[in-house]
Amino acid sequence: MSFIVAIDGPAGSGKGTITKIVGEKLGLVNIDTGATYRCVTLAVINNKYKLEETEKIVNLLNKIKIEIKKDLKGEEQFFLDGEDVSKEIRTPKVNELVSQISHIPEVRERMADFQRNIAQGKNVIMEGRDIGTNVFPNANVKIYLDATPEERARRRQKQNEEKGIQTTFEEILENIKFRDNNDKTSKVAPLKQAEDAIYLDTSEMTIEEVSEKIISIVNEKLNKVIK
Ligand code: C5P
Repeated sequence: MSFIVAIDGPAGSGKGTITKIVGEKLGLVNIDTGATYRCVTLAVINNKYKLEETEKIVNLLNKIKIEIKKDLKGEEQFFLDGEDVSKEIRTPKVNELVSQISHIPEVRERMADFQRNIAQGKNVIMEGRDIGTNVFPNANVKIYLDATPEERARRRQKQNEEKGIQTTFEEILENIKFRDNNDKTSKVAPLKQAEDAIYLDTSEMTIEEVSEKIISIVNEKLNKVIK
């Protein structure tokens, strides 16, 4: 049996950072599902397929291999067909297309299966858009993280600077709003808070405050599961 913590929310809500911290503190395997969609998107770009060519995109899913490995610092690295694409999947060309590619129904289904497979038999903290609603509707803990679009753009900009990725604040804000709209209006598994998820607006919270809050929620639940 595995213990599942689902962290959902829009782009830049802090899911990645928080999931990493909470996962490390509680010894849970951390899975970034957005990166799996980003790998598919990069494969589509590399093959020069157009968004409308859904059949080709769906066929591509049978051919590509996505792997998640840890580097020496314990950071997760994403590999597409054997190549480390961890940095490339965060670039503007991928940002522009990912929310559309990820909402092709067959892509969603296949990636949700892939995500369930990696979690099998493990205690995991998984972040995404539809983890609590679609991938693991029976997750032990569900959290929905949110923040204003401006605050989320500011965070993403800082993150990109640290990673050496060149983007402007305006570019990021526009992309965040565009992706929010795509994610929330998707016909298949749109971004929305699960009924039994705990809502946290993190606009005015520090990373430490959010992590501590989630750790205490998870610990409370773990105690109940153990009893
Ligand atoms: O979390 P991140 O911003 O890396 O996700 C990239 C994109 O992948 C999102 O904008 C969203 O469209 C899509 N996504 C998704 N379902 C998930 C995770 C990400 O549709 N579980």
